[in-house]
Amino acid sequence: MRKETKCIEGGYTPKNGESRMIPIIQSTTFKYDTSADMGKLFDLEAAGYFYTRLQNPTNDLVAAKLTELEGGAAGMLTSSGQAASFFSVFNIATAGDHVIASTSIYGGTFNLFNVTMKKMGIDFTFIDPECSDEELEAAFRPNTKAVFGETIANPALIVFDIERFAKAAHAHGVPLIIDNTFATPINCRPIEWGADIVIHSTTKYLDGHDATVGGAIIDSGNFDWMAHADKFPGLCTPDDSYHGITYAEKFGKGAYITKATAQLMRDIGAIPSPMNCYILNLGIESLAVRMKRHCENAQKVAEFLQTNENVAYVTYPGLPGDKYYERAKKYMPDGTCGVISFGVKGGRKAAEEMMKHLKLAIIATHVADAHTCVLHPASSTHRQMTDEELLACGVKPDLVRFSVGIENADDIIEDLAQALEASKNA
Ligand SMILES: *Cc1c(COP(=O)(O)O)cnc(C)c1O
Repeated sequence: MRKETKCIEGGYTPKNGESRMIPIIQSTTFKYDTSADMGKLFDLEAAGYFYTRLQNPTNDLVAAKLTELEGGAAGMLTSSGQAASFFSVFNIATAGDHVIASTSIYGGTFNLFNVTMKKMGIDFTFIDPECSDEELEAAFRPNTKAVFGETIANPALIVFDIERFAKAAHAHGVPLIIDNTFATPINCRPIEWGADIVIHSTTKYLDGHDATVGGAIIDSGNFDWMAHADKFPGLCTPDDSYHGITYAEKFGKGAYITKATAQLMRDIGAIPSPMNCYILNLGIESLAVRMKRHCENAQKVAEFLQTNENVAYVTYPGLPGDKYYERAKKYMPDGTCGVISFGVKGGRKAAEEMMKHLKLAIIATHVADAHTCVLHPASSTHRQMTDEELLACGVKPDLVRFSVGIENADDIIEDLAQALEASKNA
């Protein structure tokens, strides 16, 4: 199946007489005939459902569709993108360990790593995604357990050199984790470029309609944990909380996701509701069509902004001449995403004035869905950061993040034109 077909048909094939849409199994619990049957599930000796804090059939059908779309071996859904980021790292790194992350990542991920996970004893080195080979090499330590980056960084729109970072990670015996939220598997499949684990905030394009918060983790199954058993004792030595199972031996390509489900979901419980997963699935069905339209509209809007006298600069990896245009062509030949960033002439004040006058584009702490929306990161999502930290992750104080929806592009451009004209009065 091609990606457009997987969006519709992936993950679930109804049998004779079964529902065409995935069933919503809105049940916390599942019934068994004997205690012995249920015991097998608790021992991970048999696959099955017993309590929705760990796993639910509706969720798993949607996870299976996303796994097919990303070309992975196993996947799981989480209650938010933040939970996916946390689980993806915490599943293989613990107190005393170290992780290398790109400086250019979503602000919420930066806080999670730099504040909360640091408190848990995991050390992070944030590295410029355009660093030299020597700098990258020097960032690795004996206790490094993973490298983390974003395909297209939110909101800096820096395209990550996945292949380069995958090679460096593998040379040091650790996996590369990629947040593929902005590109989606329609425009980029990081596993094909060497990424080992892919995560998503499904809240964005995958859901696509402002309806549900969620996340996903997809494992390629390609990383050989046993070859680096000393680094990954959690996967390669017996788990006492499951009668001494060794995940990497027992579950092969499913080891990483099985461990994340059996330990992290069990203990932390960041599970999405089956109803939300059903809604997410509806969004994914139209993902390929929507992404094409998002990219076409964003291209038109970016070209308009480029010629507007009130605009200081435009950043969009789809624009010829953009710093990341060539790299985007390599990793995302069919298009990048619908998000553009630009500066309004006159700086921070003019940007705020411009936003006041927008009528169609709404001011929202959100991006990447059907409705056009706009945000000033320095005063919202990134407001916990110092000016130095902001510049280090590519977010100028006057930067406006503009998420182009799937309305008619001419309406979006007319709205921007009048608001930019008004920004002169700031
Ligand atoms: C929004 C976002 C997240 C966090 O996801 P939530 O669903 O809001 O928890 C992580 N990464 C990226 C790139 C995002 O845009």
